[in-house]
Amino acid sequence: LVELKSIYKDYYGDKQLVVPVLKDINIEVAEGEYIAIMGPSGSGKSTLMNIIGCLDHPTKGEYKLDDENVLELKDKDLSQIRLNSIGFVFQQFQLLPRQTALYNVSLPLIYAKVSKKERNKRAFEALKKVGIEDRSSFKPTQLSGGQKQRVAIARAMVNNPKLILADEPTGALDSKSGKQVMELFEKLNKEGVTIIMITHDENVAKYANRILYIIDGRLYDSKEEAIAHAQ
Ligand code: ATP
Ligand code: MG
Repeated sequence: LVELKSIYKDYYGDKQLVVPVLKDINIEVAEGEYIAIMGPSGSGKSTLMNIIGCLDHPTKGEYKLDDENVLELKDKDLSQIRLNSIGFVFQQFQLLPRQTALYNVSLPLIYAKVSKKERNKRAFEALKKVGIEDRSSFKPTQLSGGQKQRVAIARAMVNNPKLILADEPTGALDSKSGKQVMELFEKLNKEGVTIIMITHDENVAKYANRILYIIDGRLYDSKEEAIAHAQ
């Protein structure tokens, strides 16, 4: 599903200072996999996630998503791919504070120009799936952290994407709500959704089928390998 070949990402700071952030990243993620990416702060995890999510362009390299060369696509087609194929979950939930849970979940469907009736129906079903349909008319301030994250997950899956990308989905949650969120991801994965998740927490990473480690912009298959190369 996701195929990255020799991906490099440089950022340009002041005075033409080049900051190499990703170095020769190669990943193949098959459909149905559940991957955790771990690594120290500043190692390039979010940068990599943004590239996988077609939110950012690498400096160099090849990226095929569902056999499509996404780096060759125009912005308009990229937003279509983001909308139809990828669901995003973030540490800070990123919900619209003044809107209800139902409205927040239906946002991707508004962008996809789905009719209001159909939108509300599908958004409600998604809330049901994450177990908080009784909170559909609540606004984010009226929800707990774990509930907010479940709303965000409902929003991420309302379009039935093949791939869910999660950047520290439990980072702002206590361990009990974190566990609920992980159980939800596990359920989605069993239904066939591919998940790529960034986490600092070994207890969270355990839920994945495969753990990758990124240190100083390079990706490794095991922690030992990562530490050995980084020294
Ligand atoms: P954390 O665990 O703290 O979230 P991370 O692994 O997600 O860290 P990234 O956000 O990918 O790290 O950042 C990697 C490096 O890239 C950092 O050194 C950061 O300063 C740099 N960086 C990130 N975004 C930009 C940007 N827009 N411009 C310049 N440098 C950036
Ligand atoms: Mg990050």
